[in-house]
Amino acid sequence: MERRRMGDGTRAVRAGLPEPQKYEPTLPGPVFAAHYHLPGDPTGPYTYGRDENPTWTHLERAIGELEAPGDSDVETVVFASGMAAISAVLFSQLKAGDAVVLPSDGYQALPLVREQLEAYGIEVRTAPTGGDAQLAALDGARLLWIETPSNPGLDVCDIRRLVAAAHAGGALVAVDNTLATPLGQRPLELGADFSVASDTKGLTGHGDILLGHVTCRDAESAASVRRWRKIVGAIPGPMEAWLAHRSLATLHLRVDRQCATALALAEALSAREDVSGLRYPGLPGDASHRVAAGQMRRFGSVVSFVLPDRERAERFLDRLRLVDDATSFGGVRSTAERRGRWGGDAVPEGFIRFSVGAEDAEDLVPDVLRALDEAGGQAG
Ligand SMILES: *Cc1c(COP(=O)(O)O)cnc(C)c1O
Repeated sequence: MERRRMGDGTRAVRAGLPEPQKYEPTLPGPVFAAHYHLPGDPTGPYTYGRDENPTWTHLERAIGELEAPGDSDVETVVFASGMAAISAVLFSQLKAGDAVVLPSDGYQALPLVREQLEAYGIEVRTAPTGGDAQLAALDGARLLWIETPSNPGLDVCDIRRLVAAAHAGGALVAVDNTLATPLGQRPLELGADFSVASDTKGLTGHGDILLGHVTCRDAESAASVRRWRKIVGAIPGPMEAWLAHRSLATLHLRVDRQCATALALAEALSAREDVSGLRYPGLPGDASHRVAAGQMRRFGSVVSFVLPDRERAERFLDRLRLVDDATSFGGVRSTAERRGRWGGDAVPEGFIRFSVGAEDAEDLVPDVLRALDEAGGQAG
């Protein structure tokens, strides 16, 4: 009960910490172990390093407290990457003959996953995120996969509405919560069965580790996801897990700063004639704003927009001084990229995905506006 009343900052700095022990650090250091001392019958919690690790346990508790505050029934399983977490849910929950509904505008590795699912005899249907279009593909499906806000287009769907329809038809629902982080959106509270994320992005936020997690409430589902991790061995290293836990202590500071600056940047961009297709779910005029405001508590660090053509976009990226031209998002250092360079996403040549970091808005926004001016050949 006490935890339910805590603010996000308090919860983030304390999440997953064990009971204090005299002469021990507040957050115990990483445990490097392939095996544990185990005389007699092999009973847990710690037997072999691919099955369990105390550093994962602390991190899993921490993420669970953020995903579902005050709910001690949830279980979290951490993975070596976001894709490991996503694959664990899809491949542990689906079998030949099942149908799954994926977003057609989701993360760029989903088409690869689709090929693999189909090779195993699973029917894959896709529909866009915007306008809750996945509703029309649900009939008889076993699992609905939602990514909201979608990456990179930043469309939003109504999680509660999709969950109600999916559950009525007997389908489970998983939400890729990478972009929002648990401080931005709590899918389990909105009815989803699985909250899944790449913690490579905003959750760890420093662009230096790959990690993923699955959180769910149903013990059987959790056990099947855990079993999948054991079979496939997609386990995080103890050092990565410990760094991730350490990073959670600043999650609220980072996310609050990033969201405030993202809004300031989006507002500044909305006044530009050279910018079209501007999207940020936190912008009151954005097509996603109404639905986003009904389910998100913070709107994320990613802003997307379109410059007139490829050359203009490349010049813009080249002229930025405080922003690295790099993929990924959610880190403390701003990054931006011309998304079309990868192929695969249905975006215009001049489409920019911009990830707002923890710089001062007073520095970052002028840097972006100057780079736009220079890219367009205008005097700064
Ligand atoms: C990056 C990303 C992933 C994949 O995560 P990795 O940690 O790179 O494996 C999945 N979903 C979304 C929305 C992402 O942005």
